[in-house]
Formats: sequence, structure tokens, C-alpha cells
Amino acid sequence: MRQELVLLNPGPVNLTRRVRQALTRPDMCHREPEFARLQEEIRRELLGAYGLSSKIYASILITGSGTAAVEAMLSSLIPANGKLLILSNGIYGERMQAIARAHGIANRAVKNAWGEEFEPAKIENVLRKDAKITHIAIVHHETTTGRLNDLSAIGRIAKRYNKGFLADAVSSFGGEELNFSDWGITACAASANKCLHGVAGASFVIAKRNILATDKPCVSRSVYLDLAAYFREQERGSSPFTHAVQVFFAFKEALLEFKQMGGWRARNRKYQQLSRLIRGYAKELRLKQYLDSGKLSCILTAFYLPDKVTYEELHDFLRQRGFVIYAGQGKISKTIFRIANMGTLAEKDVHRLFCAMRLFLCKR
Ligand SMILES: *Cc1c(COP(=O)(O)O)cnc(C)c1O
Repeated sequence: MRQELVLLNPGPVNLTRRVRQALTRPDMCHREPEFARLQEEIRRELLGAYGLSSKIYASILITGSGTAAVEAMLSSLIPANGKLLILSNGIYGERMQAIARAHGIANRAVKNAWGEEFEPAKIENVLRKDAKITHIAIVHHETTTGRLNDLSAIGRIAKRYNKGFLADAVSSFGGEELNFSDWGITACAASANKCLHGVAGASFVIAKRNILATDKPCVSRSVYLDLAAYFREQERGSSPFTHAVQVFFAFKEALLEFKQMGGWRARNRKYQQLSRLIRGYAKELRLKQYLDSGKLSCILTAFYLPDKVTYEELHDFLRQRGFVIYAGQGKISKTIFRIANMGTLAEKDVHRLFCAMRLFLCKR
């Protein structure tokens, strides 16, 4: 059998044997009580991941990739007369703008250079000038650059100005701190296949119950992505549409494993170790980081491609040796490459990766 590729892309990740084996469980109908129990267990474990009370928050499961959850959150939670302020410093901030536009949601954006921090004073200024704004949306970990946006600073402002605070936490949920109450998070969207180490195809929104329970602030601009409908159905053990049953088997197993291994704190520690190792090795090889370490998540590092090296050359060389690195997106797709450190990745994989990288650089 061919050896498994080491995935260094930011999800989907290399799975543990336990999670992969869950995919082959006996067939199940999504309208039977055993599926209702599975769904409920996943919903409970997701709240448990950050110690959230089920009296205050609810998790809502969607079959679809992370973007489905982000789109469900934004299209359902901004009322018809609401206005969304989008803080954008990467591809995923831009995607939130595209979602707002597609659903005809009134919006404006603070657009920073990719990777650049948001100035709280500037955000406050926008809020003071535009009283129509009802919600603020931000990407927690901007996977475009590896930038970890400061949710606590922006959340404090959202609280002070009494705005809803929505986060795309797709590539941080499970690996970074998320302090829902202190940061005033109204809702966040994430997926099974990044820091939670599940299989691609399941995503979720965690939202405050009080905004879901009343019909008023929840609008249905979409049939498939109507968060209120999912919430209603899932509260009574059902679901509006067919879920990816096998993906849910694996998701539950990934969440149990996550809890048993020590939750987000343990995962964060492991990611810190791996990312430090990656950044250290890269420095020895004179690979320049796109952002300083202080600005980065523990999950991903973007590096400039060495002089006169194309992404394809580097990718193909490493791919032949069993490693899948990840290209930049958009305007930096020709100048950077990215290395994520989620999934079953171990230190020995990083050692081997940089042996191959050293070989590539020497040969040139
Ligand atoms: C991965 C990711 C998404 C979702 O992408 P999908 O391809 O739909 O899974 C959204 N936001 C961020 C920040 C991400 O990293």
C-alpha cells in the first residue's frame, strides 16, 4: 500500500485511525432515534469544547463545508433592517462580504491590507458615524496569512456599542482560545475538518439561544442555510435535511478524542510546539515569514517562496516525498506558500519535511 501523504494544508487533516474507522459503522437512517442521539451528542460536545452552558448557547449542525456554516450564520442572523460591518484582512473576510452581497444584506467593510491588524479606534469611529450598523463580523484566524485577529479587542467594542458580534472561527475552533462571554460572541461558525480533526462535510454554528428562540432577528434568506429551521428541528431531535451520516460518526469520535486528549488547551500546546519547530527550521533555511510570529495563530505559517522558486516546483518536489504544502491565495498566490500543523502531524514529520526542504534548497 502507498504510504499516506502528510497533509500540511489547513484542513482537511490527516485523521487518526479511530476517527477513520468510525466511517465504516453500520448504516443508519437520519430519521431514527439513534441518529437523534448522535446529533445531540455532537451538539453537546461542541458546547463542551469551550465549557459553554446549554442554557445560554446552542450548537446547530449543518452538512456542508465551513463556508456553509458562515453563510448560514450571516444570512440568518442579520435582520431585514440590520446592517453588517465586516472587518476584512484576507480572503475569508472578503468571502463574508461576498455572502452579504449575495443575500442582499446591507453592509460596509473596513478593509485592511492582508494580515494587517484592525485598529480599535478606527472601528469605533465607523460605529459612531454609522448608527445603522447592528452587527460586526470578523474572521478569527485568517487562514490566508496565518494572522490571528484580536477578537477580545473587537468584542469589547461590540459589547460597548451593543452590536451583535459574529465570528468566522472555522480555522481556530478547537485550537485557539475562544472566550465567548468575555468577548461578547453572539455566534461563531466552524467546521469538523480543521482543528477538531474530523472528516470534511460537517460544519456548525454556535449561537446564543436568545437570538435563535425568537423569530424576529432570524430571517430566512435561504432554504438550505436557514439557521432558525435547523435550530427548531434539532431541538426536537430532528433535522430539516439529510445529514452526512458517516461524517457525523467520525465527527463524534473526533470530539470524544479531542476531549480525552485535553481539549483546546492541549491541542493549542501541541500546535504551539509544532509551529515553533516549523518556524525554527524555516529560519535556519533562511525562509522568510510573511508575518511576524507575534501576529500568528499556532495553526499555520505563511512563508515567502525563495528567490526564483515557483510554488509548483516546491510543491511537486515535496509532494514526491510525501508532503502536501499549500499555495497562497489571490494576489499572494505567486509569492508565498503555507504550512499548517493540524491533524495527526508529529514532530518527526516536521523533521522529515525540513530534510526534504533542505535538499530542495541545496539542489538549486
Ligand atoms: C477553511 C476556512 C473556511 C471554509 O472553507 P471551506 O472550503 O468552505 O471549508 C472559512 N473560513 C476560514 C477562516 C477558513 O480557514
